[in-house]
Amino acid sequence: RRAEYAAMREKLPVSKDGERITVMVNAGLRDDVAALAVTGADGIGLFRTEFQFLVSATLPRRESQQRLYRSVLDAAGDKPVVFRTVDIGGDKALPYLDTDHDDENPAMGWRALRLALGRDALMKAQARALLEAGAGRELRVMFPMVSEPWEFDAAKALVEGQRKWLADHRKPLPTKIRYGAMLEVPALAETLDVLLPKVDFLSIGTNDLTQFLFAADRANPRLAERYDWLSPAILRFLRRVVTACDAADVPVAVCGEMGGRPLEAMALIGIGLRRLSITPAAVGPIKAMVRSLDISALVPDIRTLLDAPNGDLRGALTRWAEQKAV
Ligand code: PEP
Ligand code: MG
Repeated sequence: RRAEYAAMREKLPVSKDGERITVMVNAGLRDDVAALAVTGADGIGLFRTEFQFLVSATLPRRESQQRLYRSVLDAAGDKPVVFRTVDIGGDKALPYLDTDHDDENPAMGWRALRLALGRDALMKAQARALLEAGAGRELRVMFPMVSEPWEFDAAKALVEGQRKWLADHRKPLPTKIRYGAMLEVPALAETLDVLLPKVDFLSIGTNDLTQFLFAADRANPRLAERYDWLSPAILRFLRRVVTACDAADVPVAVCGEMGGRPLEAMALIGIGLRRLSITPAAVGPIKAMVRSLDISALVPDIRTLLDAPNGDLRGALTRWAEQKAV
């Protein structure tokens, strides 16, 4: 099937009934950008900026951050790139950065935006690097682990502060900045009415979201098989989020690993998602799945399965896909 997936590069992810699905890739290093050309993906839906920090022995200087972001934007050309501000701290501890080593639950600890808002010199330097790299073009910035809407406000204000500084000094600026939040802390889903009017887009991080929804460590092998992404709890939760985003006219994507698995991606499309950002190796298989899918047939069937769950949802969706030759 490898050759078949390679041939998918030129093909668009359009379903049998004519719906275009946006399929982007997740990336973190400069070389990952090559995946755009190799897969024919629509853009980079998640650029994990902390990778540069994790592979560096010292805190990356603003200039080197800026160089990386600029080269990623250059390489991506016309395709959009969503830069996620650093998600470090917790278990992604850095030797040169004094984070909180006392966390008993690092995933729920002093990480990501929590750390970035607390250590704002780090975040200001990154914001400046992003703004400089995005000069003359559109810049997309996304904040990880937003738990309450005010955290998004604070992070955006910090970036806007740097923008103002650059404007006051007559430096070149991005033509437009789009700000997004990641939804990976369940509490945020309860305040979407407050959050959505503030954001330009939302991206659901199903890796963290599901570990928090099920209270199951995403790295614990004994729990890896226990709770299924294809569970009514997760799919109903995601359906509510997608419905709220659609009503508010806010573009919403899934950028966790879930979106890179064909059956899971099929279910996500069935509950209304139209944008996925996935690991590059999954682009071929996901495009192939989309091209064989009749979304109008899937939607009512998935609604029935979710409204009255009875047992094995994965099994039911597998049978559905087999019968409809997905
Ligand atoms: C996620 O949590 O789903 C996500 C995309 O971010 P990361 O895997 O980097 O935590
Ligand atoms: Mg995450």
